[in-house]
Amino acid sequence: MDFIKKLPKTDLHVHLDGSVRIPTIIELSKERKLALPSYTEAGMMELVYKERYRDLLDYLEGFRYTIAIMQDDEALERIGYEFVMDNVEEGVRYVEVRFAPQFHMNDNLDFEHVMLAVNKGLEKATTEFNSRREVKSGKEPPFYYGIIICAMRAFGRGLSTYFDRFLDSHRYSPQDRVFSLAALELVQAAVKARDELGLPIVGFDLAGAEAGHPAEYYTEAYHYAHKHFLKKTVHAGEAYGPESIFQAITDLYADRIGHGYHLFDKRMITSKKFDAKQKEAYIKGLAQYIADRRVTIEVCLTSNLQTMPQVKSIAEHTFGKMLKAKLSTTFCTDNRTVSRTTVTEEIRLALKNFDINPRQLRHCIIYGFKRSFFPGTYLQKRDYVHSIIDYYEKVEQEWAIS
Ligand SMILES: [Zn+2]
Repeated sequence: MDFIKKLPKTDLHVHLDGSVRIPTIIELSKERKLALPSYTEAGMMELVYKERYRDLLDYLEGFRYTIAIMQDDEALERIGYEFVMDNVEEGVRYVEVRFAPQFHMNDNLDFEHVMLAVNKGLEKATTEFNSRREVKSGKEPPFYYGIIICAMRAFGRGLSTYFDRFLDSHRYSPQDRVFSLAALELVQAAVKARDELGLPIVGFDLAGAEAGHPAEYYTEAYHYAHKHFLKKTVHAGEAYGPESIFQAITDLYADRIGHGYHLFDKRMITSKKFDAKQKEAYIKGLAQYIADRRVTIEVCLTSNLQTMPQVKSIAEHTFGKMLKAKLSTTFCTDNRTVSRTTVTEEIRLALKNFDINPRQLRHCIIYGFKRSFFPGTYLQKRDYVHSIIDYYEKVEQEWAIS
């Protein structure tokens, strides 16, 4: 465990609102006079942030309490700061944190203010970490981060004043059209904030209920992102099958796939066009394309088990098949608090349940750095990846000796 903790790691799929420290949720809720089911850490872990969940809905319950406190710049800054601190303490050196800004917008907080507040916290913690002696002296590599903006597929009312108003003002449009308009507005604002405020917004994501809300509603927003050199990832193949992953890479130009759990599941193909043999060929072609193009799959072991109770153990997770097919994969937490996990823990689980040799492990961890949407130039990214590889080898050697 200590060895894994020491290794330089990435987390390319982690939601800020799913990774708030529980004591912070309690403290900020009390200050803001917001009700919680319990005011102790143990109570919150028993009732809300559990080890096991009934289903996706039960899992999503935890976001209600974090989104409720993430409505002012003081809270957003603090949560951003603590998020980086928690990551660096377990050896994560590069993180791409994602959130849906529209959940945090209200009468007092517009898009830019949300982004500036979160970034202030992330930046402050990063500067603090990178000023530590071991980093300044070059003994250890620095920490960097990028921000991924999430558009939402669909969700119920009452979570966010912004979305409630958006739904009201487009009362006569189909709901999917409303969300696709919101996504387009969001990506335009994100590109503007990146270019005019210099914020490290590096990617665009589509999150929320997949089934019944296909990717094609979001092509306009993704085309805009693509044309403005924003990198793209999509939550796909989590609740839906291979066709959702196919849409993500063909219609939305996805560089990476969030989860991709059902990639190999032909029972999840809904198209009537295919017979059994064609379904097999479709999956084979899709997996080959993903492998060859190095479309990286953001694997979230614990989270997948929690939202899909039909998967009984980690060993049953399709990560095993992904490994065999030599797909490009990277270990991610999805939600540090809601899933009660860390990157170190996810890697430990993978090592325990799958046949991974040290070379494969190194490959998988370094791939996180290589396939990141690094917010600098390509040359800076290359130099950084090289320094990470050197450091990784050093940790391996020191560990072998001791
Ligand atoms: Zn996610």
